[in-house]
Amino acid sequence: MKIVQFSQLGKVGWGVLTEPTRLTPLSPALAPEEIFRLAAAQPEQLLSDGLPNSIDVGSIQWLPPALPSSKVICIGKNYADHAKEMGGDAPELPVVFSKFASCLIGHRQPIVLPAISTQVDWEAELVVAIGRRGRNIPVSSALEWVAGYCCGNDVSARDWQKGRPGGQWLLGKTFDTFGPLGPFLVSRDEVPDPHQLQIELRLNGEVMQRASTGLLIYRIDYLIAHLSQFITLEPGDLIFTGTPAGVGAGRTPPRFLQAGEEIEIEISGLGKLKNRVVAAE
Ligand code: ZN
Repeated sequence: MKIVQFSQLGKVGWGVLTEPTRLTPLSPALAPEEIFRLAAAQPEQLLSDGLPNSIDVGSIQWLPPALPSSKVICIGKNYADHAKEMGGDAPELPVVFSKFASCLIGHRQPIVLPAISTQVDWEAELVVAIGRRGRNIPVSSALEWVAGYCCGNDVSARDWQKGRPGGQWLLGKTFDTFGPLGPFLVSRDEVPDPHQLQIELRLNGEVMQRASTGLLIYRIDYLIAHLSQFITLEPGDLIFTGTPAGVGAGRTPPRFLQAGEEIEIEISGLGKLKNRVVAAE
């Protein structure tokens, strides 16, 4: 199932894409946490909670497939070639940081350049959504905790990520609009192997990042098991699994985002996430 959060005429809802341009809205009685649970356990059940009238996706505003309570957990330096371009080695343990859920935006919503940064950069990432509560999850069955997968952009202000706030990454990673996600969440049953997906980012149509998720240093099952030793994972929690080489900061000379540019992230089977960059507020 391709699961969408959307708004239409000011009302927020969830739905399932039944055709490329039509979606079936889900009953508002279905709690959003339950949508993530069903995606992991019985995705076909979602449509039985569908409302009779389908909607043309041209009439909706896309929202991120996430909850206000979602923990947004991010993994740094999880592709060796990206660790290298950022001037480091592959880490001995996963590098973990976070963004606030308040920075998440949907497909076609604008990325707003902050007035206090001149180094806003892109990071195409495979994002994993959790569908079951869990703690100390075993690696061998960890993928059973996954609700689904989607495209994400770990937008990063490099001038605030490093150095300035005492070496803490949070502020540089979590400016408003710095978490494009979507366009939809694809339930786990439709992604037989999340470690065999092509991931590509195009800036104004030019390919800047292209890799396979097979190159992840720490794989998704390992990450879920590892993180669940520290944190109880809940339905709706998100794991940004890291970005491959080709970010702006790794280029010579460095290349940062400008107002008017358009970013498109595509992952096999997970659709295309497009966002325009707009001027500082
Ligand atoms: Zn990242």
